[in-house]
Formats: sequence, C-alpha cells, structure tokens
Amino acid sequence: METLAHWINGSAVTEGDSVRTADIINPATGVVSGRVPLADAERTQQAIAAASDAFPAWRDTSLSKRTAVLFAFRELLNARKEELAEIITAEQGKVLADALGEISRGQEVVEFACGMPHLLKGGHTENASAAVDVHSVRQPVGVSAIISPFNFPAMVPMWFFPVAIAAGNTVVLKPSEKDPSAANWMAELWKEAGLPDGVFNVVHGGKESVDTLLSDERVASVSFVGSTPIAKYVYETATSHGKRVQALGGAKNHMLVLPDADLDITADAAVNAGYGAAGERCMAISVVVAVEDIADELVSKIAERTRSLKVGDGTRGADMGPLVTVEHRNKVAGYIDAGVEAGATLVVDGREGDVDADSADAFLNPTLFDNVSPDMSIYQDEIFGPVLSVVRVKSYDEGLALINDNKYGNGTAIFTNNGGAARRFENEVQVGMVGVNVPIPVPMAYYSFGGWKSSLFGDTHAHGAEGVHFFTRGKVITKRWQDPSQLGINLGFPTNG
Ligand code: NAD
Repeated sequence: METLAHWINGSAVTEGDSVRTADIINPATGVVSGRVPLADAERTQQAIAAASDAFPAWRDTSLSKRTAVLFAFRELLNARKEELAEIITAEQGKVLADALGEISRGQEVVEFACGMPHLLKGGHTENASAAVDVHSVRQPVGVSAIISPFNFPAMVPMWFFPVAIAAGNTVVLKPSEKDPSAANWMAELWKEAGLPDGVFNVVHGGKESVDTLLSDERVASVSFVGSTPIAKYVYETATSHGKRVQALGGAKNHMLVLPDADLDITADAAVNAGYGAAGERCMAISVVVAVEDIADELVSKIAERTRSLKVGDGTRGADMGPLVTVEHRNKVAGYIDAGVEAGATLVVDGREGDVDADSADAFLNPTLFDNVSPDMSIYQDEIFGPVLSVVRVKSYDEGLALINDNKYGNGTAIFTNNGGAARRFENEVQVGMVGVNVPIPVPMAYYSFGGWKSSLFGDTHAHGAEGVHFFTRGKVITKRWQDPSQLGINLGFPTNG
C-alpha cells in the first residue's frame, strides 16, 4: 500500500515508516487506495523553510514572467482537468460532472490571477507638495499558508493560491487528509508550468501540522476553509501570532420562497442546491423557507423530484454520490433520526432505497423534512449531507427574521417574481452571498467569496479585489529629487507647500 508523498521544494518527499498515516478511502467502494502521511512539526517546518527560501527570488521575478507561469498553469489545467476530476471522485465521492464543475470554478480564479499586472497597479500623484511626488505599491506578504477542507479538494485551494502566487508570495498548502491527492497533482502541474521550486509546497497532515503553520514566524498569512469551530480556532491562534487571517467556516443556507415564485423552477433549484454533491457544499441549500400559501404545492413538487434522483458511484452516471466517509454518513443519518424524534414530518426518507455502488456503507439517499421548526437540531446544526428541511412561515418578514437570526451567514437565495420584494431582500438580509432566483450564488472570480457572522472570521473574503488585498501589503512612497528648497535645517513636522 503506497503512502502519498509531501511536495516540498519542487520534489516529492516520502516519509519513513515511523510517521503516522491515515487511510485514503474511496467512499463509493470502501476500498483503501493508499495512505496519507500526517506530518509532524519538523516536516511542516521543512515545507515552510522551502517557501521562505523561495520567496525573495519569486517576489523579485518580473510580473511578466510570473504571469507567464500562471497562463501556462491555466492551459495545462484546462487540457488535463479530466485527470483531476477522476482523482476527486475517487477520494471525495462527488460525481464526475460535479468534480469537473469544481475545477472550472477554480480555473476561473487562475484566469483572474493572470491579470495580476493590472490588479497590482498602484496610484501616482505628481506635485503632491512642492516638487514632491507620491506613489503607492502593493507588495507580497511572504509565505502564505492555505488549509483546506475535504469538500472541494481542488477549487478551495484554487480560491487562494493563484492570487497568492501571481502576487509574488510563496505557498504551503495543507489539504484535507480525507482527499489529499488532488493537491499533489496540482503541485506537479505547477512544476510543469515552470514555477520555480519552493514557490508551491504541499504538506499533508492534521492538527500538528496546522498548529505549526499557525505559529511559525516565517508564515505571514493564513487562508483557512473548514468548519466553524476550527475556523474560529485558526483565526484566534494565527492572529495571536501576528498573522493576517481569513478563516471561512460552516453554513446553513436558506432559500426563501414567496407565493409569486414559479414553483417548478423553484423546486428544481431546491433539489439541485440541496442534494448536489450530497449536500456537502458550503453553499448547499439546507433550509427552504416556504411562505404558507404555496408550501403544500412546493413540498409536493420537491418530493416528486427528490424521489427521482439516482444515487451511486460517481463514475457511473449517478446524480449524487456517497458521503465522504462512513462515519460522516452515520452522523448525517443520526440527524434524520433526531428530526423524526423531534416531530418534523419525514416526507422522503433517505435511509431507505437502493444505490448503484460496490459498497453502500457511505451512502444516504436524499431526505426531505417538512414542518421543521427552528428549535430542532436538524434546523440548528450544519448537517452537511443530503437532508433538506422545509420551514413554513406566514410572511416575507417572518422568513427574513428567521434567516437573519441564524448564526451563519454564508449564502442565501430568494425565489420570487416580485422585483420590489427581491430588492428589499438584497438590502435587508444579513448574509454575504445572495441569490435572486439563483440557488447557489457563488460569486465569479472577479468578485469576492465570503460569508458573514459565524461563516467567516477575519475581514477579507476570498479572491477578487479582496483576495489581492489579502495577499499584498500597501506601501506609499513620497519623494523629492534635487529640490533646492530642501536646503536648510528645519526640525518641524513636514507640512505641504
Ligand atoms: P474541518 O474543519 O474538519 O477541516 C478543515 C481543515 O482543518 C482540514 O485541513 C483539517 O485537516 C483541519 N483540521 C481539522 N481539525 C483540526 C484541528 N482540531 N486543529 C487544526 N486543524 C484541524 O472541515 P471539513 O470537514 O474538512 O470541511 C467541511 C466544513 O467546511 C463544513 O463546515 C463546510 O461548511 C466548511 N466549508 C466552508 C466553506 C466556506 O466557504 N465557508 C467552503 C467549503 C467548506
């Protein structure tokens, strides 16, 4: 059984037998395909050292040369994305089409970062004072740590590393130990694209490795994506070590359906956004908030579509694959039990039904609950599985209050044909990413991705202008050349003349 290598300073680095490992398991078959090493502090420091050593030369590489590497990476990724999709499906479980979708959304960020020369342009002021000119630049921060979750092993790292690298930083990526191979594939692609050794490193591991990244003084910034408790921990720990941090956390995304919405379009959207990737998306819709007049009809349309979904191995043309692990599957099934016990109406029971796979252990079929109330655990917790809850409300105002009272604020959507109501919602909802008749409003790469409240710790969202800002520091230069007025002693504070 092979143990995956780390990728440090442009080469694969294998561990000896003494290091701890975890199994890499295909959730659709139950087959262990390999092992992932869990790096100790020393191995993690080796990756940080490689990134730190590579930084001065990469920072001073011209923008034209840096972006030429980005363009080459984009071309290779585009040409070979099927290979990466197969790796994702084999370790994460999502169906192949969905894996390709995540790669395309990551590729958009690579394309955005190809425009870095434009994005880094500063300002210039001539004659700010007598013979004084001022200009501003943005410079890279240094070693950028990226710690990513299991659900998007390619796209989430790509929210950050194209921008970080194009801006002149060097990177240590610590991917999820549940699906680690995509990171190595991308590291090898960088090498092929011509990225100098040490600019992009991958270290595999768990808490020990993460804690080293959060505290090592050579790391300048931390970009984290994962569950809310770990995001909060990462934010607090890394900021206490003086780093800039963006830590994106969990979610509970609501879709508010007003009585004038087209219910067929809305039901399609709820099913796609609720059960796509088996609900393991931070932008998945997990709560449909139905205004009562249309609730019965909407629930029946969603139920009909839910029952028609094909569940199975992601390589066999299914609509939905397995959960990432058997443990996670059992935890999600536990929520279904809890929902029934709490009195919610179980409309479609995902604990039953067939799946097309060699091992059914990590699978759950899509589940629909109606009459869910906010005190139930299926409403309160992020389940992160194919369980969709319908909460009935009497009015727009009651629906809005429900969404705004929720501790999460990642994504939300309103379904309506009333432009005025939609505009009110855009303005009043306390959530970072809002869809109007769009159930998964993931921003384009040139906007920034990020939630509010417990869905993000820090003040900077991913990619777009905010990403460029995060991976660079501002500097303002005030200058005067050979001006005779400089002659003479004056200890006063400089004023403008
Ligand atoms: P997770 O929090 O368990 O793990 C995320 C990363 O943190 C992994 O690399 C993991 O190795 C590391 N980690 C885990 N426990 C740690 C600890 N105690 N100390 C230090 N590091 C630790 O998350 P996950 O299960 O991999 O991913 C699912 C979660 O990610 C969900 O909550 C989902 O909503 C969230 N997510 C959020 C977004 C977003 O944009 N807000 C995007 C994708 C996923």
